[in-house]
Amino acid sequence: MSEANIQTVFVANRGEIALRIIRASRRLGLRVVCGFSEADRGSPYLSLADETICIGPAPAAKSYLNIPAVVRAAQLSGADLIHPGYGFLSENADFAEAVQAAGMTLIGPNADVMRRMGDKVEAKAAMIAAGVPCVPGPDSVLPDDVAEISRIAEEIGYPVILKAAGGGGGRGMRIARAQAELAQAYMLTRQEAQRFFGNPDIYMEKFLERPRHVEIQVMADSHGQALWLGDRDCSMQRRHQKLIEEAPAPGIDRVLIAEIGARCAQSCVEIGYVGAGTFEFLYEDGEFYFIEMNTRIQVEHPVTEMVTGLDIVALQIDVARGGKLAMAQRDVRTEGHAVECRINAEDPLTFAPNPGRVSALHIPGGPGVRVDTHMAAGAEVSASYDSMIAKVIAFGADRTEAIARARSALAEMRIEGIKTNIPLHRELLVEEGFAEGGVSIHHLEHWLKAREVENV
Ligand code: ADP
Repeated sequence: MSEANIQTVFVANRGEIALRIIRASRRLGLRVVCGFSEADRGSPYLSLADETICIGPAPAAKSYLNIPAVVRAAQLSGADLIHPGYGFLSENADFAEAVQAAGMTLIGPNADVMRRMGDKVEAKAAMIAAGVPCVPGPDSVLPDDVAEISRIAEEIGYPVILKAAGGGGGRGMRIARAQAELAQAYMLTRQEAQRFFGNPDIYMEKFLERPRHVEIQVMADSHGQALWLGDRDCSMQRRHQKLIEEAPAPGIDRVLIAEIGARCAQSCVEIGYVGAGTFEFLYEDGEFYFIEMNTRIQVEHPVTEMVTGLDIVALQIDVARGGKLAMAQRDVRTEGHAVECRINAEDPLTFAPNPGRVSALHIPGGPGVRVDTHMAAGAEVSASYDSMIAKVIAFGADRTEAIARARSALAEMRIEGIKTNIPLHRELLVEEGFAEGGVSIHHLEHWLKAREVENV
């Protein structure tokens, strides 16, 4: 199909990211059709699409995760392109195949590349081949022989972590701190891998004790050009869920980051990657260790947009339509600093989800403040989906100014009718460790534990 004919984008997602995709599509002058489930019927964000189509009942398995239903709705809407957003079907290679078979274009890499990067062992092997530094450990699946496994662990050196090749969402991982723990850790991880991911393959790597989570954003076109668009630090996590993200990662040698970024971009060319992607690394003692690649847009992409001035979702759509990236690596410049706070509909102390109706809402503004949300007064937060309802992004000339603006924005923001984690963000934005920058992925949980003890 020629580029001129491609005019309709189907949004196979919901909430704030659906709205983000609607906005990017409209900015590009495309027609945009948004799928919705019964739970999202009548949600205010849907009115910004040119058309909407119901794809099924509230449970995600019957709507947003239902491949035949999504593909059918997209076809009915006359879509040329499908944007999967994040979560749901965004990293599902079977979906990518179904979209292609139905004659449409998925905004993302092709099914083969998606499948390959979705297998962490294969992804690691591809990265080692491309010269991207990985966590020490073999780039192959563990054999089924305990003596051999224990030899591999000795070679890596304890502690080690056993991980499911097909794992995701922080599941299917277990640490062994000594040989005595190894056999059982192996057995349990294998069972879990089979049960959750239908793939019993396990691999092993060095367990890093106090790493930071640092990631590189990439964007590649179908003409052999790949760029890296800077880095992000997402170490502020609870149960592997990111809560605050920022760009750039503070206190890391920029020359080293540029070297890692260039390797990520180069490896995109080598694996035939097209679209937006993220290379996730653990960073410890001045070294980067690749852990996985996400083959989709990420929740935290706005911090990169704020410091680069780029519209990553529009670029995704452009390259999916066969467009050429109109810039070279030297044109990608980052300036200033950006911080993102994920606002969740949950109890700020217990973290229990708190769905319900938003009775009143005040969205902060002012210089350097961006809020990505599908919320409006009267909108319903459904119990059927993720509890994230807004992202507050603050930009500043430097990290101090970005955090100061985030603090003012969070002080101003009001969401009534449901509980949110806004009070938690207010505390975290003045917390000493975070304010200093460069905390490890365990910092937030340690801080929460200490606060709990104080409150008893
Ligand atoms: P998932 O796809 O489930 O998110 P990842 O491979 O990205 O799995 O790992 C999730 C998290 O587990 C990481 O962000 C980190 O906190 C922890 N982790 C993974 N591998 C290691 C490792 N080798 N050492 C220490 N922590 C690790």
